[in-house]
Amino acid sequence: MQHKLLMVLGPTEIEKDILEEASKPQEYMRTEDYTQKWVRIFENLKYAFQTQNPVVVYATSGTGAMEAAVTNFLSSNDKVLYINGGSFGKRWGDICKKHNIVSIEIPVEFGKSPQVDIVKKYLEENSDVKALFATLNETSSGVLTDIKAIGEILKEYPDILFIVDCVSGLLADEFCQDEWGVDVAVSASQKAFALPPGLGFLSASKKAMEYAKKSNLRTFYFDIFDYVNNSQRGQTPFTPAVGLVNQLDKRLEKIRKEGLENFRVRYKNNTEILRDGLNKLGFNILAENPANCTTAVYTNEIDAYKIVQLMREKYSIEIAPSGGELKHKLFRVGNFGDIQIKDIKYFLKVLGSVLQEL
Ligand code: PMP
Repeated sequence: MQHKLLMVLGPTEIEKDILEEASKPQEYMRTEDYTQKWVRIFENLKYAFQTQNPVVVYATSGTGAMEAAVTNFLSSNDKVLYINGGSFGKRWGDICKKHNIVSIEIPVEFGKSPQVDIVKKYLEENSDVKALFATLNETSSGVLTDIKAIGEILKEYPDILFIVDCVSGLLADEFCQDEWGVDVAVSASQKAFALPPGLGFLSASKKAMEYAKKSNLRTFYFDIFDYVNNSQRGQTPFTPAVGLVNQLDKRLEKIRKEGLENFRVRYKNNTEILRDGLNKLGFNILAENPANCTTAVYTNEIDAYKIVQLMREKYSIEIAPSGGELKHKLFRVGNFGDIQIKDIKYFLKVLGSVLQEL
């Protein structure tokens, strides 16, 4: 199979040494060595989330971690608010509805940032909700949400859980779970972690753990108490995805060595080079306040889907189409993972040719 350069929003290009980690023989996980590995991983994940709370690892994709964030801490007939600025904000609502949670949408125009004043108004009018759901990087539009500012407002509502989807935002954009007052944060392996898909991460505050005691939706496989208790002895309740966990260990050690700030700045520089180039080709960035590594652009009179297809079929570069009515109008480019400046320059050159051809 010919390699296609992944400039989508996950999965990403994976660094060579991390890829090689996956080809090592499997290990048995109930050993002292493996426990040491988990202890290191749990510490490094806390660093990634900027939290003192436990972070647990599920063998699931991001949506599984999102569902765990709903079912562990809430109960049927609870009332919640969710910010909906695109597919992933909407997903919070869909998961809650599936579990018979009364879900009140805070609609946000596609491409615009959620306005803190509007969130505040919804909270004033619905102060009896159990949780507020938000998305750090709404990957469908590339909009960054001001989680810190929303966390500030929530200080006046100590009984409301703040639950944030950081699937595409964590590491790429600033996120300080404890300082910003986030109770539950979820992420996944295939975006800025730049690992294969298959691991979901969830971090829960003490307040969230109190809510979990009362939840009537807690499932067997995702039960947060089981994972937290096991993490305290450097283990997981069920068989972990051994190969992925080895890759996670190595990747986290590298990120920790580089430092979150340096990591973010490095990707920010690359993202700026990409956006400059897109602007020069005549594209405008959709997001009002764009997230790092996620760039959505409207294509005006050119068919966005044809661009995606030509890039894939003729030039072996994957960029992400949009769904539904935006299919022919908007495409998205990701520069998570092992995408270097030379790849971005190559991508821009190829995109220029594709525009000529169309
Ligand atoms: N939330 C966000 C913000 C995402 O970008 C994604 C994946 N694109 C998900 C949730 C869902 O993750 P998964 O596809 O791994 O279930």
